[in-house]
Amino acid sequence: MRELKEIYIKDGGLISFKRDVDVILLTHKTFGSFIKAIYEIIGKAGYKTTTYMQGRLSSLGVSEFIEKHYGGFQGIPELYREIGWGEIKIVKDGDNMVFEWSNNPVALALKAKGVNSDEPMCYFTAGYVHGLVEGLLGGKKVKRVVEETCVVKGDDKCTFRVEFEEG
Ligand SMILES: [Zn+2]
Repeated sequence: MRELKEIYIKDGGLISFKRDVDVILLTHKTFGSFIKAIYEIIGKAGYKTTTYMQGRLSSLGVSEFIEKHYGGFQGIPELYREIGWGEIKIVKDGDNMVFEWSNNPVALALKAKGVNSDEPMCYFTAGYVHGLVEGLLGGKKVKRVVEETCVVKGDDKCTFRVEFEEG
């Protein structure tokens, strides 16, 4: 275990930590190996549900951190830019909320492993958004998060539509 304050990244960027954080650093290729192995071992249907739940469980508790240090939803782009998870734009679309996410790490990981698909593949990120939104809204139930465009299938960014339960 080493104490890290800053991480330099190859395109000249810098990730710095304003507070103590415990991190595990993985290259996109290594993370991609994890995800791709799930797909290869349990098949497409299992991949979708398993990685969606992994993502959802991963973001549990993050909402509290975002409320405390980043002021809620408006701080999401800053936080994820800081930790190198790409660019996020959150837009309202009727009753739905849409996360437009450039360079989401799951897409980059799958691309790094040479995965191509004719359908969206970032189920981990979709589940992550599900848990994140549900946590930040507290009480308002997310029905599901559907990825509509995906870098893995050749789109310029991944977009995730958040659908809410009625009432
Ligand atoms: Zn995607």
